[in-house]
Amino acid sequence: MTNIASSAVVTGSSRGIGREIAIALGNLGFNVVVNYASSRTAADQAVKEVQAAGGQAVAIQADISSAADRRRLLEQAVSAFGPIHLLVNNAGIAPLQRRDILEAEEESFDQLIQTNLKGPFFLTQACAKHMLTNAPDVAGRRGNIITISSISAYTASVNRADYCIAKAGLTMMTSLFAVRLAASGINVYEIRPGIIQTDMTAGVKEKYDRLIAGGLTPIARWGQPNDVARAVTAIAQGLLPFSTGEVINVDGGFHLRQL
Ligand code: NDP
Repeated sequence: MTNIASSAVVTGSSRGIGREIAIALGNLGFNVVVNYASSRTAADQAVKEVQAAGGQAVAIQADISSAADRRRLLEQAVSAFGPIHLLVNNAGIAPLQRRDILEAEEESFDQLIQTNLKGPFFLTQACAKHMLTNAPDVAGRRGNIITISSISAYTASVNRADYCIAKAGLTMMTSLFAVRLAASGINVYEIRPGIIQTDMTAGVKEKYDRLIAGGLTPIARWGQPNDVARAVTAIAQGLLPFSTGEVINVDGGFHLRQL
């Protein structure tokens, strides 16, 4: 069971990885804020699935790249469920265009950084300030913050530099908040998925099918959203209380060097 009272905000949980995280948290009995950008119907469906799993849930539209929306998201989350004890920074976008780094354009770069790095940074800042006002539990814990990054945090894909740079930034963001918040009973984690079967990767399915069959990952299969959700539930249940700033690879062993 969880060792802290349990309300969670999961950004981008109308679809894909975030949706599975929301349902898995519902299964643990969490109150879950299902945040989405524009997929209202999918978000409502995710809410039903969280409820069916045993949690309470509410859908809140908010674009995490917008400061006003981030503020409103947190306000509405608190008014729905009271103190928030878990933030999962999951929402993210693929690059508008995959372009060689020598041809990359500022518009696409700005949009991606705004959504995948600046949004999570300032949402984490706001949520951390909120968590600092939470009453500590018997173990002095006030909350957990998890950010879903990517193997792109350290893997150079020269046709989507913006995405890689944003993900690498999330790694430092995790370290910074982990150091800043440790003494206040808030642990901060990075979960680094590999190749996961979602809408985001649907357009490059054949390419990854080939790479996986060719031995790209020691565990030779696509990752599923639930593989990532399971890692989140380990943290959400308080199973890693003496770890912070930790990176959890959920990538079928992609990060291993071999000889
Ligand atoms: P999907 O494209 O399947 O889903 C993205 C989710 O994020 C949707 O719920 C979407 O909402 C939401 N979202 C997008 N932009 C915003 C925004 N500005 N504000 C709020 N919500 C937003 O993506 P995945 O599930 O594949 O990816 C989730 C996370 O995991 C991302 O950060 C991604 O970079 C990362 N990741 C994915 C991997 C993969 O292989 N799939 C691998 C490694 C990391 P809506 O439905 O309203 O559009």
